[in-house]
Amino acid sequence: MKNNILDGKAISTVIKKEIAAEIKSLNTKSVIQPGLAVIQVGDNPASSIYVRNKKKSCDEAGIKSFEHRLSDKTSEEELLTLIKQLNDNEGIHGILVQLPLPSHIREHVVLEAISPDKDVDGFHPYNVGKLMVGKGSLLPCTPAGIIELLERSEVKIEGKKAVILGRSNIVGKPLAIMLLQKNATVTICHSKTKNLPDITKRADILVAAIGSPEFVKEDMVKEGAVVIDVGINRVEKKLVGDVDFEKVSQKASQITPVPGGIGPMTIALLMKNGLSAFKNQMKIK
Ligand code: NDP
Repeated sequence: MKNNILDGKAISTVIKKEIAAEIKSLNTKSVIQPGLAVIQVGDNPASSIYVRNKKKSCDEAGIKSFEHRLSDKTSEEELLTLIKQLNDNEGIHGILVQLPLPSHIREHVVLEAISPDKDVDGFHPYNVGKLMVGKGSLLPCTPAGIIELLERSEVKIEGKKAVILGRSNIVGKPLAIMLLQKNATVTICHSKTKNLPDITKRADILVAAIGSPEFVKEDMVKEGAVVIDVGINRVEKKLVGDVDFEKVSQKASQITPVPGGIGPMTIALLMKNGLSAFKNQMKIK
């Protein structure tokens, strides 16, 4: 087996330690600790696992987490009232609403209700706009985690051909902007793209974020490409990505595993956003 793993788990541990050290040093100057509110509506089992992992990471990073578990019968108005209270609460510096929400609640209304200063997921249109013009500070965590993983692994982005499978607002689109800002030449593919393998085979950096188990096969990948697998798919109680890891890892120069790749990087970048939101609100440079 080739030793070409981009180890998101190990790198995320380093990032969380760095954040914990910074928060500890800030705590010598201020008694206030960063506070992150996590709201879960309903009891989707996958969401419960994500919320638990986020809480654990907050503990590791020195961020106080406040969990709000609401019933799936909660109305949109009740949820908006809670968000308003958290927006006004000076002990809360970041607010995260775990997605997906039950179908009777409008996701865009909820995300727009979160104060942009406390929007640690980076989904508020204000923060999306800031990202677009290159002035973002609270960046969406999954694409920011991908960039951080590439940079900390010394993968050169500038001048490379990057191909992204998936154009969602939380992964594909913001990642395209971030890679463009790092001077890659970016192509975004989606479900209506024709001749997909012709495009993916040209990629120096190939990112799969479609939610289709092991969709990317070795004949879609250029020899020596860097392959980033964002997908999280449950197949017979096992987690698999959007890439056929077994075969593609033989061809890729570097590749992320699932689990242990982009998942932990996403959470580490959430902690980083928690710290940034705290510093911005406390006016700490
Ligand atoms: P969405 O369902 O919102 O978007 C999927 C995208 O993939 C769409 O743009 C869709 O195209 C495109 N797509 C679907 N099938 C194909 C295909 N056969 N060929 C080309 N494009 C296709 O998904 P998300 O972006 O939210 O998530 C994608 C995956 O990443 C999921 O498995 C999710 O669980 C995972 N994920 C992992 C995270 C992590 O922390 N590791 C964080 C977020 C997501 P179209 O727009 O035309 O419909």
